[in-house]
Amino acid sequence: MLYIVSTPIGNLEDITLRALRILKSVSFIVCEDTRVTRVLLDKYEIKAELVSLNAQNEQAKMQYVLSRLMGNTDCALVSDAGTPLISDPGARLIHEAIKQDIPVSTLPGPSALLAAITISGLPADCFLYEGFIPQKKGRKTFLESLITTERTVVFYESVYRIEKLVGELNNVIPDRQIAVCRELTKMFEEAWRGTAKEVFEELPNKTIKGEFVIVVAPTWWK
Ligand code: SAM
Repeated sequence: MLYIVSTPIGNLEDITLRALRILKSVSFIVCEDTRVTRVLLDKYEIKAELVSLNAQNEQAKMQYVLSRLMGNTDCALVSDAGTPLISDPGARLIHEAIKQDIPVSTLPGPSALLAAITISGLPADCFLYEGFIPQKKGRKTFLESLITTERTVVFYESVYRIEKLVGELNNVIPDRQIAVCRELTKMFEEAWRGTAKEVFEELPNKTIKGEFVIVVAPTWWK
C-alpha cells in the first residue's frame, strides 16, 4: 500500500491519529527534505527510514520506490508541509503506482490553501486554486483574469514578491476584497483583509516575513 499522508503546515499538533499510526507502521517514508520530515518524526518518536524524492530526482527515485512497493512493502508519501502533490512532488509516483496496480490510500489533513480560504472571510463554496502564480511570463494575463472572475481565486506567492503582488492587485482590482494570509497555524498567523487598495495602503505597517497564501473574492462579493 502507498499511503498519501498530509502533515502540518506549521503547527506540529495538526496531524491526525491515523497519520501517526500509518507513519509508525510503514517500512519507509518518501519525503522531500529528510531534515524537515525528521523534525516531525522526532516529535512523535517515529524512527522510520526516509527516502527523499523531490522535483530534481523524481524520475529516478520513483522507480526505486515502485520496485520496493512491488515487493509487498508499505510506504507513506509526505511533503515538507501540507498535502503531498498540491504544488509539491508526487503526482507521477501516484500515477505510476495506480498503473502498476499498487493500492493507494489517502490520509487527508492540512493544506495551506484550505486553511487560507477558511480564514479569509471570502466565499468558500466554489474556488479556483492557481498554485504558485507566474513570476514573469503569464503574470499579466493571470492578474487580468482576476478582473472578471466569478469564483474565489486562491494562490501562493513567495515572500520576496508579496509587496509587488499587492501593488499589482491594487492596480488591477483596487475595489475587490482580498485576504493576504501569513504564517497560518504558526505563532504569527494573520490575515490582511480588505479591498486590494486598503491592503496596499496598510503594507508599510506590516511584517513581510514567512509564508503567504492570497485569496481574491469573486466580482460579485461585496
Ligand atoms: N503542499 C502544500 C500544502 O498542501 O499546503 C503546499 C506546498 S507549496 C511548495 C508551499 C507554499 O504553501 C508556501 O510557499 C506558501 O505559499 C504556502 N504555505 C505553506 N505553509 C504555509 C503557512 N503556514 N502559511 C501560509 N502559507 C503557507
